[in-house]
Amino acid sequence: MRTVEQHARIIADLLRPTPVESTPLAQARGLVLDADLRAPLDLPPFANSAMDGYAVRAADLTAFPVTLPVSQDIPAGRTDVAPLTPGTAARIMTGAPLPPGADVIVQVERTDGGAERVRIDSAPAPGTHIRGIGEDVRHGDVVLAAGTVIGAPQIGVAAALGHSHLPVRRPLRALVLSTGTELVAPGHPLQPGQIYESNAPMLAAALAAIGAVPTIEHFVADDVIALRAGLDRASAGQDLIITSGGVSAGAYEVVKDALTGQGIEFAKVAMQPGMPQGAGRYRDVAMVTLPGNPVSSYVSFEVFLRPAIRAAMGHPDITRPTVSAPLSAPLDSPAGKRQFRRGQLDTVNGTVAAWGGPGSHLLAWLAGADCMLVIPEDVTHLDAGDQVEVWLLG
Ligand code: AMP
Ligand code: MG
Repeated sequence: MRTVEQHARIIADLLRPTPVESTPLAQARGLVLDADLRAPLDLPPFANSAMDGYAVRAADLTAFPVTLPVSQDIPAGRTDVAPLTPGTAARIMTGAPLPPGADVIVQVERTDGGAERVRIDSAPAPGTHIRGIGEDVRHGDVVLAAGTVIGAPQIGVAAALGHSHLPVRRPLRALVLSTGTELVAPGHPLQPGQIYESNAPMLAAALAAIGAVPTIEHFVADDVIALRAGLDRASAGQDLIITSGGVSAGAYEVVKDALTGQGIEFAKVAMQPGMPQGAGRYRDVAMVTLPGNPVSSYVSFEVFLRPAIRAAMGHPDITRPTVSAPLSAPLDSPAGKRQFRRGQLDTVNGTVAAWGGPGSHLLAWLAGADCMLVIPEDVTHLDAGDQVEVWLLG
């Protein structure tokens, strides 16, 4: 049997880093910057007013009130601002360029708001309400370092610096294919013995949640010819193929039957759930074959695929946030296998408890869990109060 780490390494090695692409800002959210982003200009690029008011020379404000002629009007966006004539005021709006010679902005609230002449009742200290060149960013500064995950503020500053595109690792493209003659698409009637297919929509959502791009191939029956046809039809252009089902020890294990000796290696991994696994390359596309039980499929995604895909997309943090917490109730775990239990964290007491039994068909319990408990291979029993490793599913 393989250890969890051995299988994780095999899958991590299968996935090549996705290519770096110059990507429009709007599509870069959640992706990872590949190179330092330097400022091609200062921010602010010119001295400007932080207030609506009047730009004046402090030297002209010796006593209050003082009335000055308004020598120019400077709305935001003016590109031809003349120097401020001594003994006058310029009416100026927030974000408008400061006229050379002005050294203080008097807010409109301290004046009568005049357009031709303005009465100034009081003034702040020289330099007040002026945003200086490069106060925020200096030309040439590294504003976003390589490895930064692009979110809304990062898109904002990139746009403010005039970048329309960012060099980011593109999303990984994954084909998701479920196998099972018993499967029926949600929304259609069920015959006795049939079940609704849940793995592909669940895995596709898990992929989308980490910024990968899933394509769901309609699930195939337990038929080797149908599976190969499905793979050949849909695998072009994909970075990864993920199948579920058909890899355990019974008869009619379609994925195993179709792909043994075709570049995919099947193995047992010392974990529960998720023991039967497979990985390799199918016609040069990385392929991971997950077990069919829904909880096994999901746990396998969390343990093997999520970190490997995040690494391939350049993410600095590939694992879930992990904490240690005391159990509020005892639990048992099989010897020799790493057990992944659905859990719920009690944020008031700081304790954690298993949520539902370990059965890998208990999908509703997965939907009610907010964390996963990780119980080591050599631990068969934990008492209330014992510390356990907790992955926060967020
Ligand atoms: P298998 O690994 O194909 O033997 O499937 C193990 C169990 O998981 C069986 O009970 C299947 O019916 C179930 N199963 C397999 N694939 C899916 C799926 N896509 N959606 C829901 N249940 C599935
Ligand atoms: Mg099956």
